[in-house]
Amino acid sequence: MPIDPPRVPLILLPTPLHRLDRLSAELGIDLWIKRDDLTGFALGGNKGRKLEYLMAQALAEGAEFVVSCGSAQSNFLRQLAAAATVCGLQSAAVVMPLPFEGELPTGAGLSDAGGNVLLDELFGMELRWLPNGTWEDLYAGAEQLANEIELEGKRVYRIPVGGSSWLGAFAFFNAGLELQQQSPPFDVVVTASSSGSTQVGLAAAFAGSSTRVLGIACDPEPELPGDFAILSNELSNHGFGGALSAGDFEFDLRFVGGGYGIPSEDGQAAIRQMARSEGILLDPIYSGKAFAGLMALARSGELEGRVCFWHTGGVPALFAMD
Ligand SMILES: *Cc1c(COP(=O)(O)O)cnc(C)c1O
Repeated sequence: MPIDPPRVPLILLPTPLHRLDRLSAELGIDLWIKRDDLTGFALGGNKGRKLEYLMAQALAEGAEFVVSCGSAQSNFLRQLAAAATVCGLQSAAVVMPLPFEGELPTGAGLSDAGGNVLLDELFGMELRWLPNGTWEDLYAGAEQLANEIELEGKRVYRIPVGGSSWLGAFAFFNAGLELQQQSPPFDVVVTASSSGSTQVGLAAAFAGSSTRVLGIACDPEPELPGDFAILSNELSNHGFGGALSAGDFEFDLRFVGGGYGIPSEDGQAAIRQMARSEGILLDPIYSGKAFAGLMALARSGELEGRVCFWHTGGVPALFAMD
């Protein structure tokens, strides 16, 4: 048996699982929700699971600083900022306004203040703003920031965007096992998917079972399943799950709308529907679009039976809507 990596307890586990009675009736499926919006740390979200292992690794390596990057409204950076504080580490991140590429129709975007940005400052994270650019510009900016901090003599632990190292995937491999212990099998687990460790970990946990894991893309990049395969290989090399190939990942690109970080009409309608049917809040960048996908697929008959919607959190971005 492989040995689990070290963990710093940060969140409240297991997260609740419950049925959505009104939406089940409305959509004609047996719909349940896994409440990772209620991880109970720094306003919740899926990144808390990953951070338990990432922070333990940072501490094991003797880091004084954690450095990462993301969009201005990154939920990962908000949770990282809080986790660093709790672990006695300093945190810094490079951020870019949304959208990274392309133009935004006026009145349809997310602000560079409020929401997660406000919370990053509150938790004590240093933010370095870059002008709007590509993901590659963002990664290069983070590497430069990490190098600068090292030149000041501080030991830095670098964390990839969204916390998607093998440790992030491991956290979601465990999350998949957690769901298996909470409930008889689902036909499908639906999750928002972007940097990939959420989907990779869940797919590894359910591989070879009767449960499909369906990722709804929040970033319109068809090559992402190739990156997911690499991550799944790393997870497998550490002894957890079998290696999956790009074709093993169900990654549906039809619900991204105008692009990463651009709220979509269907996503906004899905947020309203969930709020008004079940009193649960979704977010405009990830979970709203994922739930819009789930509703559309249930209505077209592509999704049937016992379905679990994995609520990945993100609610603070609601308060950054222009
Ligand atoms: C980061 C995030 C996701 C995507 O998770 P990945 O592991 O990066 O694919 C989905 N929903 C929310 C709210 C997130 O913050």
